[in-house]
Amino acid sequence: MLTPIDVLVVGAGPAGLALAAALCQTGLTVAGIAPAGEQSPWCNTYGIWEDELPSPLWQDLLAHRWHDTVAYANHTELPLQRVYGLLDNASLQSRLLAPCQQAGMRWYRQPAASLTQQRHHSQLRLADGTLVDARLVVDASGHTPLLLRRPPGPPVAWQAAYGIVGRFAHPPVRDGQLVLMDFRSDHLDSQERRQGPPTFLYAMDLGKGRYFVEETSLAHSPALPFEQLQARLHRRLEQRGCAVALLEQEERCLFPMNLPIPDQRQPLLGYGAAASMVHPASGYQIGAALRAAPTVAAAVAQALRHPEATPGQVAAAGWQALWPPANLRRHSLYLFGLQTLLGFNESQTQQFFATFFRLPQPSWAGYLSNTLSLGGVLNTMARVFLTAPASVRSGLMAAAFRSGFGRKP
Ligand SMILES: Cc1cc2nc3c(=O)[nH]c(=O)nc-3n(C[C@H](O)[C@H](O)[C@H](O)COP(=O)(O)OP(=O)(O)OC[C@H]3O[C@@H](n4cnc5c(N)ncnc54)[C@H](O)[C@@H]3O)c2cc1C
Repeated sequence: MLTPIDVLVVGAGPAGLALAAALCQTGLTVAGIAPAGEQSPWCNTYGIWEDELPSPLWQDLLAHRWHDTVAYANHTELPLQRVYGLLDNASLQSRLLAPCQQAGMRWYRQPAASLTQQRHHSQLRLADGTLVDARLVVDASGHTPLLLRRPPGPPVAWQAAYGIVGRFAHPPVRDGQLVLMDFRSDHLDSQERRQGPPTFLYAMDLGKGRYFVEETSLAHSPALPFEQLQARLHRRLEQRGCAVALLEQEERCLFPMNLPIPDQRQPLLGYGAAASMVHPASGYQIGAALRAAPTVAAAVAQALRHPEATPGQVAAAGWQALWPPANLRRHSLYLFGLQTLLGFNESQTQQFFATFFRLPQPSWAGYLSNTLSLGGVLNTMARVFLTAPASVRSGLMAAAFRSGFGRKP
């Protein structure tokens, strides 16, 4: 048998590549599984707050940047004063692949199929029967991971969106503007507003008369159908006199927001959406995957220094770096926050976001980027509670009682 490589990464999405790059930079021997090729283009539109990039040196990976960033909720325009960007996927991919290429990382072009464990290594079988031995396997195969197990969780809340890149009869947003969430709903009648879950417009000026507009359901169980989102988007645009003049591209977006953290006792590591790294408050994940990769890679490299370390021990070191207890506690608070939102009606949702985006920027921004301490998250939640209108407060209290907050153990 050939000597097993150190780490085998399954999946070459943003998370898989971020971790592969960081692992290569530690000097480990790394291989990857990318059925479509590690350079095959990512077709999603990835947005990120500029301050979520691992360093200011990564700013050149933004294809667009907006300083005029706003939200609309409860009939109010809320200036966000935080720079937002769209990633240039090809540039990000090249940036992450560079250290992989330098390290001579090998990529297999077959889907991974199954995993077996030996005492000191794991063996991954590819679809064509090829066997690859590695001291650690990382599952970065996306929201429905191939190899990782998750405990059962609550009903899945899905983020769903239907978006268009194109030209419009009139500009759907101001020149140079990014609209993170526009909850204005005057294009719906009162019954529709009461019945359907609230959706919002995510929109941006791409320059030269082109815009990206997307009708988004932040989270709902079951997922809102694309047809409903598409119909709502067109009604919203038409009501504002911004009917689509030229459709260049469509995006249909659907992914889970509240998946439980995988079982950390498994002898393999997860990363990215596979490891439930999607933020339950926003659905964002790319910033976290880019920022956490060096820490997780260092922990894995450290564990692999012990020649007798088993895959379970190495994976445990990786899990500990990725989901230490403090992060797990914060994550449960975010899940509680999401669960609360799911119970809100349209008016409560509008008032909630109007309150949230009026908090001091470090509070709301830190909450969305997962950069607050546990105390900081609790403080943000308390501030929302204290400053929100009564109907939101009663919704928050009802959610707290449902979840068992304050109950004696
Ligand atoms: C349309 C859309 C828009 C989004 N927008 C944003 C955004 O703006 N900002 C943000 O932060 N997040 C966004 N997200 C959420 C999240 O960040 C993305 O889903 C992101 O792509 C997850 O990255 P990942 O690398 O974990 O998984 P993926 O990007 O899903 O990559 C997984 C890779 O594993 C491969 N794979 C799967 N099975 C196998 C197998 N058996 N063998 C080998 N390889 C396999 C897949 O082909 C894929 O290449 C968005 C999600 C969607 C769906």
